[in-house]
Parts: sequence; C-alpha cells; structure tokens
Amino acid sequence: MLSLDNFLGTGGNLIVYMAILTNLLDLDPVQLIAYCGELGEKPFRAKQLQRWIHQFGASNFDVMTDLAKSLREKLSTRAMIVSPSIVSDHTSVDGTRKWLLDVGQGNAIETVFIPEENRGTLCISTQAGCAVNCRFCSTGKQGFSRNLSVSEIIGQLWMAEFELRRTKNIELGPKGERQITNVVMMGMGEPLLNYEPTVTALRLMLDDNAYGLSRRRVTLSTSGVVPMIDKLSQDCAVALAVSLHASNDVLRDGLVPLNKKYPLAELMAACKRYLEFAPRDFITFEYCMLEGVNDTDAHAHELVALVRDSNNSVSCKFNLIPFNPFPESGLLRSKNPRIKSFAQILMDAGIVTTIRKTRGDDIDAACGQLAGEVQDRTRVQERMEKMTEYQQKFGENFGRIVEIPS
Ligand code: SAH
Ligand code: SF4
Repeated sequence: MLSLDNFLGTGGNLIVYMAILTNLLDLDPVQLIAYCGELGEKPFRAKQLQRWIHQFGASNFDVMTDLAKSLREKLSTRAMIVSPSIVSDHTSVDGTRKWLLDVGQGNAIETVFIPEENRGTLCISTQAGCAVNCRFCSTGKQGFSRNLSVSEIIGQLWMAEFELRRTKNIELGPKGERQITNVVMMGMGEPLLNYEPTVTALRLMLDDNAYGLSRRRVTLSTSGVVPMIDKLSQDCAVALAVSLHASNDVLRDGLVPLNKKYPLAELMAACKRYLEFAPRDFITFEYCMLEGVNDTDAHAHELVALVRDSNNSVSCKFNLIPFNPFPESGLLRSKNPRIKSFAQILMDAGIVTTIRKTRGDDIDAACGQLAGEVQDRTRVQERMEKMTEYQQKFGENFGRIVEIPS
C-alpha cells in the first residue's frame, strides 16, 4: 500500500508538489487568462501576473504586491513558477555562458548565452535527445528521450534572462536592460517535432507582457519537417533557419534521414512558401562542412543551382558550420581553405555567406581572410559596394565571424 512516505525523501517532496500545482510557466497569455478566470479573477490580473513572471523573473507570489493578498495566497496553494534546475553554469573568457539543466530521469539539456556587441543571443533546446538521427549530430546519436514541456522551453529563457541580470546587478522589470535580445532554437532537438509546446513558447517570447521580442529576433532551426514549416507560417512565423547540409537528395538522404520523407524539391518549395509570411526576406540555410562528404566545389555549384532553380528560387543566406567532431561519427571537419573556397563560390553567386566560428579552433584565420576578401586588389570597388549593400540588408555581421559556439 502506498503511504506518504513513498513520496518523501530526496526529491520526493517535489513529486508531490508537481502533481498538485500548476506550473504557470506552462501557460501562454490566453491560457493564463483562462486560469485566472477559473480562480474568479478578471483578465487584467493575468496580465499583471504575466509581467511579474516574465518581466520581473518572480518565482514567489509574495513579491507580487499589486495582486490582492487573497489572490497571492490562493496562487501559492495551487500554482508554482519553476524552470528546470541548474546542474552546472560555466562562463568562458569571452562571456559565453552555458547552463546544463536537469529535465529529470537522467536527461539534461544545454542552454547557451552568446554575448555580442549589440545583442545577446540565447540558444535553447526543444527536446531531450532527437529522433531525426542526423549522421553528424551527437544529439541524434543519443536517440530521443522526450519532448520538452512549455515550461522547460520558455523556462530556459526565463532562467537565463534573470540569472544574467542578477549576475550583473541589473534591475529586474521592463526598465532594466534586457540581456537576451535574440533567441535561436538551435540547441538539442527538432522543434517542429515538438510543435505545440514550441509554438506556445514562441508566443510568450513575442508577447508584450512577457519578453516582447520581435519575430525577426527569434529564429527556429529545423531539419526540414515540411508540413510543420507550413503550419508555423500560419501560427507564428518567426525567422526560419533550415539545416540543409547537402546539395542533392542522394547525399542528404544519407546525412539527414528525414530527407527521405521530405526531399529537397519539397523542402525548397516549403521555404519559398514560408517567405511569404516570414519576418525577414530570406531563409538561413545551415550547412555543416564535412571533409570529402559535402564540401567540394561541385557541391557548392550544385547548391547555387538548387536555391536558384528557375521554378523554385529561394531568397537565402548560408551559414557554413565547421563540423564539430565526435568520436563515433567517423566524419572529419573540412579544412579551413576548403571552407573558404566553398564560401567563395556561394558569395560569387551573390549569396550572403557567413562561417560560424567554432571556439578554440584555428578557423579564425580563414574567417578573417573571408572578411578580408574586400581588400583584394582586384575588383576592390565592386566588392566594397557589394559588402556595404549586404551589410545594410543582412546586418553588419555579413562577411564577419559570427561566433556561435558549438
Ligand atoms: N534540430 C534542429 C535544430 C537543432 S541542431 C536542426 O537540425 O536544425 C542546430 C544546428 O546544429 C543544425 O544546423 C545542425 O545540423 C547543427 N549540428 C548538429 N550537429 C553538429 C555537429 N556535430 N557539428 C556542427 N554542426 C552540427
Ligand atoms: Fe541533431 Fe537537429 Fe538532426 Fe536532430 S534534427 S539529429 S538535433 S541535427
């Protein structure tokens, strides 16, 4: 027979609470209004509550002084505000901060903050593990554990924003300087295979009573779940990044197994459709550079033809990612000169191309040279004009190193 003792002990209390209390981080603005309605409260109370949670980082109802004491007491017996607990928290010399978060049953996810001069980007996860099983991805090799809930997804932003503010002694609330200005869903998992919680979390990111980020500053990265790309365009069209990694179907079938279900022609058509609703006038294609696999000049030319197909031309930019090797993959990172030549072919075709810097790697030199192409003695004027045009259109990072640690 079960007694209370079965639930007590290490972590046992939490199990009891989890079963009873509603985690308010799980609720989007509409759901929070409904929840407050169930408590007999007017919709504006939900807005106040939402601001306390997502703008002040409150996890304790006592601090919510503009809510009636009776409501605060009611909330404290029925609700909680809890994000995944922090297992580790490391800051590197360049300011990059990584948190490892416990999502239960031996599963952990990583959240990474990347500070840059005029912005702070948070890279968040949407699943523990991933079922897509791309050949070059260590997450895929771990297999799929489970989908993250809304509170586990938005909880990464909630935790990171207010941890960063507390560390830097920055005022909480809308008056304090916002630390996270951009979010990329490029951590663990395939966001479009955990669709509803992902979209709910996106809505909170965009909501003015929560984080108020513009759709341009939130990027979802997908391996290409075609029907869900279309659905996203209708439900919450944030900026889209697509993990391409190959210039033809035979190659992509071997690298991204999902390609067998949604081949390149369908994926390109979906990207084109998405652009009609997207907040930016381009799709970002991510391309992991694998030595001798997908990195030849012929592949680069094939890619240009793919995105410039007369029936299905897709306005895009490329982000080349030097492969981050892991032992079981049996794959190697392309050499720097190869990555540079590959990028040059795309750039010569007029496609904006950046190379993601992998920290601790000597790719800096190659990236530097890439940006330094404007100093070529040949066609200097033409290249300078093009560079200025692209920087105006795609941001000052064009042609420069975009540092996103892998
Ligand atoms: N599942 C989504 C988002 C998470 S992966 C997607 O695939 O787009 C984020 C990016 O990291 C993807 O472009 C992915 O292809 C890339 N990536 C995965 N493993 C990598 C590795 N070992 N080296 C470099 N990039 C990798
Ligand atoms: Fe990794 Fe993304 Fe492929 Fe999943 S879909 S295995 S996270 S690269």
